[in-house]
Amino acid sequence: MRNRDAPDAGGSVKPGMIRPIAAAATMLVGGMFVALAVGASASDDAASRAPPSRPGTASPGDLVFSGELQQGGWIRGKVPAGTTLLTLGGTPVGFAPDGAFIIAFDRDAGPRTTLTARRADGSVLTRELVIAARGWRIEQINAARRPGGPTEAFMALRRPELARINAARARISDAAGWRQSFIWPVKGRISGLFGSQRVYRGEPGAYHSGLDIATGASGTPFVAPADGVVVLAAKEPFTLEGHLLMIDHGMGLSSAFLHCSALMVEEGDRVKQGQLIGRIGMTGRATGPHLHWGMKWRDARIDPILLTGPMK
Ligand SMILES: [Zn+2]
Repeated sequence: MRNRDAPDAGGSVKPGMIRPIAAAATMLVGGMFVALAVGASASDDAASRAPPSRPGTASPGDLVFSGELQQGGWIRGKVPAGTTLLTLGGTPVGFAPDGAFIIAFDRDAGPRTTLTARRADGSVLTRELVIAARGWRIEQINAARRPGGPTEAFMALRRPELARINAARARISDAAGWRQSFIWPVKGRISGLFGSQRVYRGEPGAYHSGLDIATGASGTPFVAPADGVVVLAAKEPFTLEGHLLMIDHGMGLSSAFLHCSALMVEEGDRVKQGQLIGRIGMTGRATGPHLHWGMKWRDARIDPILLTGPMK
């Protein structure tokens, strides 16, 4: 969904729109476990002071990680033995009892931040993270942005929906899907890219917060991309999202599936990766049947394709 700027697209994407994704996908395949090279390649003093970790040669005293150091991307890693506090840009970040963690970077994150592990013996390990900028698809619209905010009648419907979404986001589960390699919930045509944005005579609209997948029909089943717990399953369609399904994958990572025609799970259900969880539709604000897959890590909006890799 695109907030109020434009209805979600079930239509087709022009070939040129795929290019940024293809470039990102190449980085994913080629750089899955060498993404530290991205950070280490910066000529900045602070970055060159931070020694690159080498996965595979890690000792228990290392702060190791790998993944996609770019806007909308993520890293997974392990804190050194004896770590009592892990912070990202000064904010505490959770990690599992075995030391594993995941962090991710908002669409507008960057260009750099620091990851710091503090150990019980007082020692501190700091890594500078250089977050590569993405080239978002920007569409210039020669028209004024629609004037006016939402009506009171709309907000009367909307407030309780937002309350449910916020309550779902506040739920913390012990799901471990965040450790898994994500799979595509359904395969089809990518009809809307994460991060794309319309600009109305110089005034930016809201960017597209997820990835749209269209199969050409309503009713196509889709599956859980990773293990998780269902934190919201809207039996009555929401005004914008329609039948909305939200899954917590643990450690702050979550998925939202919008516009569904049917939901096959209920709130509180545990789901396994690959399990049928719903059917594609066009409920809520949508111009055609498609699955909008949004992902968040805490408050950061992230790009699902950087977790799944390219669709094959
Ligand atoms: Zn969408």
